Amino acid sequence: MEPSWTSWGTTQPELPPAARELLESRLGALTPTQAAPIESAELPASRLRRSVIDRLIDAVGPRGVLADDATRARHAGGQAYADLIRRRAGDAGQAPDAVVLPRDAADVAKVLQICADDYVAVVPWGGGTSVVGGLDAERGRCTGLIALDVSRMDRLLAVDETSMLATFEPGIRTPEAERLLAEHGLTLGHVPQSFERASLGGYVVTRSAGQASTGVGRFDDLVAGLRMATPIGELVLDPIGGSAAGPDLRRLVMGSEGTLGVVTEVTVRVRRTPPVRKFEGWMAPSWDAGLAALRRIAQDGPHPDVVRLSDPNETIVSMTMSTAGPMTKRLLAAYLRLRRVRRGCLIVIGFQGTAEDVRHRREYVAEILRDNRAAPLGRSAGHAWERNRFAAPMLRDTLLDEGALAETLETAATWTKLPAVYAAVREALRVNLGDGAVVGTHVSHVYPTGASLYFTIIAAADPDRRVAQWAEAKAAVNTAIVAAGGTITHHHAVGTAHRDHVARDLGGAVGVEMLRAVKNAVDPRGVLNPGKLIPDHEGIS
Ligand SMILES: Cc1cc2nc3c(=O)[nH]c(=O)nc-3n(C[C@H](O)[C@H](O)[C@H](O)COP(=O)(O)OP(=O)(O)OC[C@H]3O[C@@H](n4cnc5c(N)ncnc54)[C@H](O)[C@@H]3O)c2cc1C
Repeated sequence: MEPSWTSWGTTQPELPPAARELLESRLGALTPTQAAPIESAELPASRLRRSVIDRLIDAVGPRGVLADDATRARHAGGQAYADLIRRRAGDAGQAPDAVVLPRDAADVAKVLQICADDYVAVVPWGGGTSVVGGLDAERGRCTGLIALDVSRMDRLLAVDETSMLATFEPGIRTPEAERLLAEHGLTLGHVPQSFERASLGGYVVTRSAGQASTGVGRFDDLVAGLRMATPIGELVLDPIGGSAAGPDLRRLVMGSEGTLGVVTEVTVRVRRTPPVRKFEGWMAPSWDAGLAALRRIAQDGPHPDVVRLSDPNETIVSMTMSTAGPMTKRLLAAYLRLRRVRRGCLIVIGFQGTAEDVRHRREYVAEILRDNRAAPLGRSAGHAWERNRFAAPMLRDTLLDEGALAETLETAATWTKLPAVYAAVREALRVNLGDGAVVGTHVSHVYPTGASLYFTIIAAADPDRRVAQWAEAKAAVNTAIVAAGGTITHHHAVGTAHRDHVARDLGGAVGVEMLRAVKNAVDPRGVLNPGKLIPDHEGIS
């Protein structure tokens, strides 16, 4: 069974009673909403000319071009709060004129040629999980617009166990990729929260980061080679052991978000399936103490594979909202009372590897945590997090039904600037969404030089202007992040949501110009994902 066009999962959790009480006390009375069924979706008429449709059918076969309302509506935007709110209201205004499903790289090349000839915008479509407007139906100079859905390109093409590499088509979803690798005793180990639905091609072009990034690395670190179709031909970057042959163009494709071409193949580094996996919980006495511990973990010695630190708000909220067993929740609550910790911060640490390797790293990390006055909560707290780590998007659907505004955002900064960025984002949210808004934060990706910050926001939605309300708050946060020295995005990518604030991350006016020059060279007619990533001004906003 597929999830509906508005929901993440096929089931939805009930709000635990304590969570309902918390919402009522913080947000007051909400106006519940109901999600519109796909049959009632309102779509603009398709603007594709018949001659273009016929050429596309010639290229990919009749099963590869779908222009029915339901398929178009299912491709109306991604998974951002605004996308969900629009679809829940029956608004499929972001729908493409048609959905084209290539079978292989040759089909993709043909489709790009047709679209370039006829000025049809191409929105590459992986798993559809973009939360930054990366799938918006922006047309630029084009009249027609297709979603190029690569879900039929989902094969494992090769495994090289000598070099520990695996080559996939871009549309494969992570669970299937992991299942196929497991037959070889191998794993990719990339586990974002969108694990079930996002595609490998999507990870490449958005520079995704998974929950085990401290051990496995970001997706950038896993990409060894790739192929990308562009309107002027194919870019082939074979995997190599190491090279000094000019700039690494893999890095240019990574983060290109469909604006430079369509990734048709990716070769990733793989590892042997770890025999031992251990997760454990710790409690830091404060956010500052937790950050100090994480910094030492990132900078010194052997580190764990998963590291997460929740701030006091998120610690309380996740205990309240969590669908974790009552035993785990009671344990944590009792612990906090016992130690008279009112601003305690939950830390989750995970290890995967051989027994000996895990033992060695655990001992070392435990020493750092103790040095920073963190106290062990044991394995059940860690495994409770592991069991529930994919539940949040489903809980979001429940919160939207209740009438709440529920969204997340993220950034990263150097350790030096992290406290200022944290404070600036929280203040921008408070000013825009009010004191009642519940804002929890965690760090889940650490580096020797800095760390990410991930904010979860639950506020009272303004029933008359849900989309505009969040757009205003988000714009204020974007400005605050840039002013405080954070990156506009650590792993959600740029899309349209961050485009106007990305210039500094790209190196200012010169960087923007370099990117634009590459775009113009490979996509002279501007058909590839118009309006995404590349700002239309050079300034640093
Ligand atoms: C509930 C939820 C949790 C998430 N958690 C995480 C997380 O933990 N870590 C993380 O990094 N991200 C996370 N994300 C964001 C999102 O899942 C990632 O950005 C992911 O990499 C997108 O992959 P996708 O296949 O869904 O791409 P899509 O959403 O389909 O596309 C994303 C962008 O890439 C382009 N694109 C897609 N495929 C191709 C291709 N083959 N060639 C060229 N361009 C292409 C699209 O045009 C679009 O601009 C989350 C999103 C949701 C909804």
